[in-house]
Amino acid sequence: MKKLRSLGLVAIALFMHGGQSVAQEWKSGVEWQEPPLVTPGTTDNAPPSDAIVLFDGRNLDAWENGDKWTIENGVATAKQSAITTRQHFGDIQLHLEWSAPTEIRGEGQGRGNSGCYLLGLYEVQILDSFQNQTYFDGQAGSIYKQTPPLANAMRKPGEWNTYQIIFNTPRFKGNGDVERPAYVTLIQNGILLLNNFELHGPTSYTEAPHYKPHAETGPISLQFHGDPVRFRNIWLRELKPAVGRRVSAPFNLPLPPKTAEPKAGPHKPADDTKPANSGETPSPPEAKTRPAATNN
Ligand code: MG
Repeated sequence: MKKLRSLGLVAIALFMHGGQSVAQEWKSGVEWQEPPLVTPGTTDNAPPSDAIVLFDGRNLDAWENGDKWTIENGVATAKQSAITTRQHFGDIQLHLEWSAPTEIRGEGQGRGNSGCYLLGLYEVQILDSFQNQTYFDGQAGSIYKQTPPLANAMRKPGEWNTYQIIFNTPRFKGNGDVERPAYVTLIQNGILLLNNFELHGPTSYTEAPHYKPHAETGPISLQFHGDPVRFRNIWLRELKPAVGRRVSAPFNLPLPPKTAEPKAGPHKPADDTKPANSGETPSPPEAKTRPAATNN
């Protein structure tokens, strides 16, 4: 019975036309803008053409307190205080590379600890989690005290780890209620650690997370937690949703005109130079003026 029902659905989806099954093409009725051209970097770790470079190995001028850290051979080492970007950002794709100190000192949270604070409020943990036990929602790649990462993808102390972070900021209504929580995706060394995780609020050592309304943009901070964690190659891209305009309701293209049944006679080879759906382009249903619903 179930099989018969699904066969019926297939029959509805397809039209028999000239002896051939022809599916009507569906059109969304949205006129999309062409996506911007972005030239990739020379490698996937190098900044693409639209990136904002925050550290290219030369200086930390893009950061407040950048002068407190040391820079040697293109590598910045955490020292004295956190550093915070002068520029503020909203939704971003962030690339950074970091290395836990080669000399292993301390244990748990006291070993190779730093952190990447998105909007200055939401910490993606940076920690030497290579053969170093701590609470799971505090290890490398966790959202501090909100979720452990999906895996431990650490390289050894002294080796370089790559973080790719995709962050969507929270939005607040006029009355301060959360309209949309913040979401983070994290890939470390090519391995997915946070899969669009919904944050419960800013990360805190002393308080349960809860949202308080704030601006849609903010800085990025790198934590100094007493350990000489090293960083290199930091850049980000500001994310903008695809733009479209609804010009009509969704519709299906009409079928091409039906050709006459061939009369019995000598067999003629099929003309396969014509496209299957060669009818004239139909005009879409009447345009609507309301803006397109965009999806990102
Ligand atoms: Mg930390």
